[in-house]
Amino acid sequence: MSVRTRFAPSPTGYLHVGGARTALFNWLFARNLGGTFILRVEDTDEARNTDEAKQAIFDGMAWLGLDWDEGPGKGGDYGPYFQSERKSIYDTWFQKLVDAGRVYEDGGAWRFRFERKPVTMNDLVCGEVTIDYRDESNTPDMVVKRSDGSYVFHFVNVVDDLEMKITHVIRGEDHLMNTPKHLQLIEAFGGTAPQYAHIPLILNPDGSKMSKRDAGAAVGDYPRQGFLPGAVVNFIALLGWSSKTDEEIFTMDQLVARFSLENVNRAPARFDFEKCKWVNQQHLIPMTVEDFVAAAKPFVEATGLPVPENFGAVAAAVKDKVRLLEEVPAAVDFLLCDAFTYDPETVEKVRGNASAKELLASLAAAFNAIPEWSADAAKSTLGDVAKSAGAKPGQLMFPLRVALSGRAHGPDLGDILNLLGKERCTARVMKFVVILQPCSGGL
Ligand code: GLU
Repeated sequence: MSVRTRFAPSPTGYLHVGGARTALFNWLFARNLGGTFILRVEDTDEARNTDEAKQAIFDGMAWLGLDWDEGPGKGGDYGPYFQSERKSIYDTWFQKLVDAGRVYEDGGAWRFRFERKPVTMNDLVCGEVTIDYRDESNTPDMVVKRSDGSYVFHFVNVVDDLEMKITHVIRGEDHLMNTPKHLQLIEAFGGTAPQYAHIPLILNPDGSKMSKRDAGAAVGDYPRQGFLPGAVVNFIALLGWSSKTDEEIFTMDQLVARFSLENVNRAPARFDFEKCKWVNQQHLIPMTVEDFVAAAKPFVEATGLPVPENFGAVAAAVKDKVRLLEEVPAAVDFLLCDAFTYDPETVEKVRGNASAKELLASLAAAFNAIPEWSADAAKSTLGDVAKSAGAKPGQLMFPLRVALSGRAHGPDLGDILNLLGKERCTARVMKFVVILQPCSGGL
């Protein structure tokens, strides 16, 4: 029998990373086994479900690359795929319970009569879980149809899993204790239960429960921060799944090939947003320069910085230095315009080196005299200037970097020298000599 999984979100807010992870695990599991992945929108709670929330789910999944085979916009043999459009199906299934004598009226609502026996489930992640229904006080018969005629989550969820021939239900551990109720319903319907896999909770690094306000909680926030979809998918996959090797960086195809429920952990996952940024960097590094430049450009344009003809070379110089595309503008601003700022602490560090000012003054003159500018020519000039002053080239490298960029870290010095060219380099070194004057008023 071919595998059928589903993601069944309730569209009450935005797409949370926890939901995205549930979608991803279902998607990976189906794709790994050549199965079918279904999107079913559990929108029965009309008061809380909004069109924006539905759209956020569609947009988030599209951005992550989680395409569905059946569902909204796709169709399929088991639709409609919005629960709000399935009322008549639920009525038919409810009638089966009436006919079997398994429901009774109670104050206008309808309760499902549990079988009074222990119910054991064999969860693919959590193992054996038993709920003993013999103790009626702990497990009162549950309402399946409210007095207003609407059906509760447990009922519609089970009916749809049966109707849609779902073979594997992969969902958050918060639903683990619901599952015995679902098994009771399935048995009453004479249906075949899907296999269940409840995936671990997601906690903050400090062990607290992840909230909707935590940084990184909303999938919709990731694109504008300059995360790559493939990197976010990689990071989310690691929330509860591991390859059981040292490897952590995977493409989408590698995840599909490697994913299995056996490698899903029981222990809660830790959501570390800093790690997510690191994973993103590991995906930026192997990009081609062309792809990186194209991805970085809109982020720079959005800040209003000029985007000159040599922008490709400028962006390439920081390709392996940034974690997020949104960091690119600040990383390259000094290469795109002269009105950059100097980091005060870094300038103080250069001031602390008594010979820096004299050396830089000589360097400016020597730069100006270079007939044919290149990074190599500039570096060998720097070596000569240092040597004739009895200093080591290293003593000049750092002050020069600060003179050209205003900061202590950044692209390779050679890239900076090349990209700025002779005139700008000379002018910046001269300007910095003035900045270093004790009477310049400081910075
Ligand atoms: N609508 C439910 C939720 O979002 C679905 C649970 C399930 O996957 O069965 O939690």
